[in-house]
Amino acid sequence: MATCIWLRSCGARRLGSTFPGCRLRPRAGGLVPASGPAPGPAQLRCYAGRLAGLSAALLRTDSFVGGRWLPAAATFPVQDPASGAALGMVADCGVREARAAVRAAYEAFCRWREVSAKERSSLLRKWYNLMIQNKDDLARIITAESGKPLKEAHGEILYSAFFLEWFSEEARRVYGDIIHTPAKDRRALVLKQPIGVAAVITPWNFPSAMITRKVGAALAAGCTVVVKPAEDTPFSALALAELASQAGIPSGVYNVIPCSRKNAKEVGEAICTDPLVSKISFTGSTTTGKILLHHAANSVKRVSMELGGLAPFIVFDSANVDQAVAGAMASKFRNTGQTCVCSNQLLVQRGIHDAFVKAFAEAMKKNLRVGNGFEEGTTQGPLINEKAVEKVEKQVNDAVSKGATVVTGGKRHQLGKNFFEPTLLCNVTQDMLCTHEETFGPLAPVIKFDTEEEAIAIANAADVGLAGYFYSQDPAQIWRVAEQLEVGMVGVNEGLISSVECPFGGVKQSGLGREGSKYGIDEYLELKYVCYGGL
Ligand code: NAP
Repeated sequence: MATCIWLRSCGARRLGSTFPGCRLRPRAGGLVPASGPAPGPAQLRCYAGRLAGLSAALLRTDSFVGGRWLPAAATFPVQDPASGAALGMVADCGVREARAAVRAAYEAFCRWREVSAKERSSLLRKWYNLMIQNKDDLARIITAESGKPLKEAHGEILYSAFFLEWFSEEARRVYGDIIHTPAKDRRALVLKQPIGVAAVITPWNFPSAMITRKVGAALAAGCTVVVKPAEDTPFSALALAELASQAGIPSGVYNVIPCSRKNAKEVGEAICTDPLVSKISFTGSTTTGKILLHHAANSVKRVSMELGGLAPFIVFDSANVDQAVAGAMASKFRNTGQTCVCSNQLLVQRGIHDAFVKAFAEAMKKNLRVGNGFEEGTTQGPLINEKAVEKVEKQVNDAVSKGATVVTGGKRHQLGKNFFEPTLLCNVTQDMLCTHEETFGPLAPVIKFDTEEEAIAIANAADVGLAGYFYSQDPAQIWRVAEQLEVGMVGVNEGLISSVECPFGGVKQSGLGREGSKYGIDEYLELKYVCYGGL
């Protein structure tokens, strides 16, 4: 059965107590706040507006398969990365549950593909509406399980919901072709048909949006899905299942099988090699992507791979310093540096270098506040776990040992084991780890360069190419550099580029395919050529 969920405060360690009103007890079909003594004023200040009072129906701990909430033989714990407090125990699905989910999705596909595009569109729209109605609760779930500052979590929920809205519109705009061939008695038709069941595997850093970006497109196309969310963040995926069900999305169309990291390999293999699955859609590290590509190869499945990045952020001499600093702040420190499009290395031309570094350091000191994601004013939450902190620390130590200078930050933050100080390094050189390994944390290393060619060469030396940014006021340079950067997405004088209307994806080892935009739905459609003769 669903296990209890204890939702503690961000400040539980400091307060040393748990808010009784946050303890939830299972009820048929969901979890409800447990009754208990009223919280004291300090606790109320700490917890009010967080998870206490959250719609109980959204807090799910079982898997969701074939339209039913199902327990698994085992459970795994989910923790608040800010405090380390237990949030709840979630069904730990294994191969058996994975196969059952694929079967449910396949059976549902046979019906869903026959549902009219207009009806699919309308159901996606209802799901979108429910996300908007529940946006505050959904945001709080994100902050609780991923540590993301609440303001950013609200932003993610809107971004996530907009994919459902966008693909509800795209569902009705899937057109085929009629082609005139040299044979007068024939016409060639091109039909677009749904691929089938999609295995969807997602990371923890956007626990909601990485799901809807895939699932919105899949469902709009007439496909069904089995979602395996990240171990750290299953609650957002399960809350989406509850809303899908409320929206009337038919049973088996959206299935969620949470599992522990221990089971991820075999569950991943089970869903990615099952003959009833036609498509693998993955967002996560390049290392895991390569494993899944092997699975896909054995049974020749279609793939979408949204993998890691190493975004260069280039500031040319002609740049407006204030604009460049604002862009660097946004692109580097969003989600505490834990996005695939976060700038990983800042390349700054010699003439503007000192002014940029000075202004950037000042902006960091003025605008960044480390804290629990639920606290008003926090801009930098915890990293997802201690391993992530160790990675940042290792990169900083490596850089300093090779001659980099710490301008600000540089060490673990006193708030707790998952926190790291926002850090700015200068005198960084290409032999340092932080210039060729994705950081995924609040570290901004600055490399000084002299010529445009040098900057492009450094940027393009990476074996990945997701996003790239540059600041320049020279129109000819803007065209040259935008065309030469080996990435899938370019921000010119702009540090935030994601938008549901635009194609998201990378080149080189950053992945295959595009998500969002008018192109995203193609990833879930097959072309069928029909030769109509005897005319
Ligand atoms: P990850 O370790 O590759 O995990 C991603 C997902 O894959 C999780 O659900 C994980 O489960 C699962 N997984 C891990 N090993 C698996 C296996 N052998 N078989 C099947 N599934 C497996 O990536 P992450 O560290 O969570 O996420 C950060 C990475 O994602 C970064 O590299 C970032 O750049 C990338 N990312 C890319 C995009 C994009 O759009 N291009 C967007 C966001 C993030 P567990 O959680 O249980 O380990």
